[in-house]
Amino acid sequence: MAESRGPKTCLAPHFSRMRPQSLTPLFAQVTSLPGIGPRLGKLVEKLVGPLVVDLLWHLPFALIDRRNAPEIEGAHAGDVATLTVTVDEHLVPHNPRQPYRVWCSDETGRLCLTYFNGREDYLKKLLPVGEIRVISGKIDLYQGEVQITHPDHVVPLDQRESILRVEPLYGLTAGLTQRPIQKAISAGVERAPALPEWQDAAYLARNGWADWKSSLASAHTPAETSDLAPLHPARARLAFDELLASQLAIALVRHHNRTISGRATKGDLRLHKAALGALPFELTASQKGAVDEIATDMAKPERMIRLLQGDVGSGKTLVAFLAMLIAVEAGAQAALMAPTELLARQHYATIAPLAEATGVRLALLTGRDGQKQKKETMRGLADGSIDLVIGTHALVQEEVEFADLALAVVDEQHRFGVHQRMALSSKGQAVDLLVMTATPIPRTLMLAAYGDLDVSKLTEKPAGRLPIDTRTLPLERIGEVVQGVGRMIATGARVYWVCPLIEESEEVDLANVEERFQLLSARFPGKVGLLHGRLKGAEREATMAAFSDGRLSILVATTVIEVGVDVPAATVMVIEHAERFGLAQLHQLRGRVGRGVAKSSCLLLYAQPLGETAKARLAIMRETEDGFRIAEEDLRLRGAGELLGTRQSGLPDMRLADLAAHGELLQAARDDARLVIDRDPDLKSERGAALRTLLYLFRRDDAVRTLRAG
Ligand code: ADP
Ligand code: MG
Repeated sequence: MAESRGPKTCLAPHFSRMRPQSLTPLFAQVTSLPGIGPRLGKLVEKLVGPLVVDLLWHLPFALIDRRNAPEIEGAHAGDVATLTVTVDEHLVPHNPRQPYRVWCSDETGRLCLTYFNGREDYLKKLLPVGEIRVISGKIDLYQGEVQITHPDHVVPLDQRESILRVEPLYGLTAGLTQRPIQKAISAGVERAPALPEWQDAAYLARNGWADWKSSLASAHTPAETSDLAPLHPARARLAFDELLASQLAIALVRHHNRTISGRATKGDLRLHKAALGALPFELTASQKGAVDEIATDMAKPERMIRLLQGDVGSGKTLVAFLAMLIAVEAGAQAALMAPTELLARQHYATIAPLAEATGVRLALLTGRDGQKQKKETMRGLADGSIDLVIGTHALVQEEVEFADLALAVVDEQHRFGVHQRMALSSKGQAVDLLVMTATPIPRTLMLAAYGDLDVSKLTEKPAGRLPIDTRTLPLERIGEVVQGVGRMIATGARVYWVCPLIEESEEVDLANVEERFQLLSARFPGKVGLLHGRLKGAEREATMAAFSDGRLSILVATTVIEVGVDVPAATVMVIEHAERFGLAQLHQLRGRVGRGVAKSSCLLLYAQPLGETAKARLAIMRETEDGFRIAEEDLRLRGAGELLGTRQSGLPDMRLADLAAHGELLQAARDDARLVIDRDPDLKSERGAALRTLLYLFRRDDAVRTLRAG
């Protein structure tokens, strides 16, 4: 981490002192590589990062085979060929619109090199008349003559071998070309040290993998297309190294946190019973299961770190509240942190009546509170007169102190980073942590982001909820949809009508939403409201309120309704251009209906023709409402990188591993990390020492530091 900010960071020398000497060449700046000066260095940094190791993780995405070296006569149009020829003549164009031509030959025929906008001085130096040059590029035919337009390579005879090979192709950024990157990477690979083997010998042998350095070298010198596959031994080994580093780092930090003394927080069910008595419904079986799991964890002397997963509306807030009551029964406090003001208020509204019924003192703390109110809440938290607090990140401000915080609940919704989570749990002694997430995360991603974390899942919907009738229709049939909506609102139904944001131009997008609003308003005067991100808070709230109490029947909206809008009476969801939405988003949007007792429906309107992926997404939406299944399918269709914004999800930034392709390696890395923690938690064995090197290689210095401290 510190390295990425360059030598100015004051932490860098400290880190580099602990890092094994053997890694030093890899942690040099990219500008230390041949051919990478300050200008290219900036571009490389933008592309991959500032250090040699960053560039080495940049694996080729394709290759060109230049080993085809015929004589001119034997060169076929369409082939890539490497020809050895004598330069005969330069034809400098009189008219700049004409191409610059250089005629060359060998014993078998003539070759024409064609350059558009060719510079005479440059080309005469590159291709001196009378000399031999080795030319590589794609062959075409020009008026019956063999031609190469803009050859990829022109080198003197003594460099022939350097281009007569399979050339790896790397992803580039504007201003960069293949040649300097290839050279720099190949020099970087040469400089890579031989490192001690950190992988389990038996596992390595079973996979037939080579050592780290050889694997790195062969990943950068593919001989055929199949060598580029993610499961090719060289790539698989490097991916496994990355996954192992990440899993081991997470496991070490967790092991360290667990062993610093936790507290046993035991409830006596007094408040729990009172709360259940005040509920107008029964807990679902998975809610009961989750509460039990949490209670068991909290009663242990180690710290709890548990994830509570469940779709929107699956009843997580209630589970969180019951967990918080355990802390209060034990004479301590609990806090719930939500990512937005709106969500904090919604949780507060759900919990306040229950808190009152159980006689628990509850407060709300957000940035919007007045100074006086805030002071009072903070005093109550510090002196223990407040048992439970719900709030936004205002809770982690420095001034906020707790008398005795025992449980921190973080409603994550992919918006908090690890740091905020830690900040809240650092407000007390060995605080138990419960993280709630609404978007179900596939098992693979979960493992990558959190390691071997304890998870409670809410898999059922609260009783009485009916399935949502989901249909897909081409946009041409929008007329029928409008008619149908008319019939439904005549019977009192409330309808969401969602238009997509395409992000290219907010103006155009808003124009689309407004146009839809105008059309529907003309058809159903006074019944239609409009909601989008540009509206002021007060205006939005007024529109929401009107929709919520039924003065408006149709709410035309952008995806702003995805988060936090809760109108149980709404039963129809129309999504225009559903093909432009991702699965997770469609699922979240559909989750806005089906929350009350009435039967709900969802209409997905799509523009034709549908691409394969869009078709698959819509089919899954028709087939299932199971958020876990949808998340798995989403991973399959999209690949992991896109599924969760890396930064927001706490998902480590993977350079070599692709979770969609390397899911099995991830499981293996998890198992291996677990074994290491069991057998050698301080990494003291010979393999342990090698594993430390691995952690440094992947910049998990943080994890190594827990070894020293603990
Ligand atoms: P989540 O936080 O998972 O989005 P909530 O906790 O907000 O879900 O619950 C959604 C709604 O369902 C709330 O109105 C809540 O009171 C209600 N609810 C929760 N559990 C049950 C249950 N077991 N039976 C019926 N309704 C429930
Ligand atoms: Mg909720």
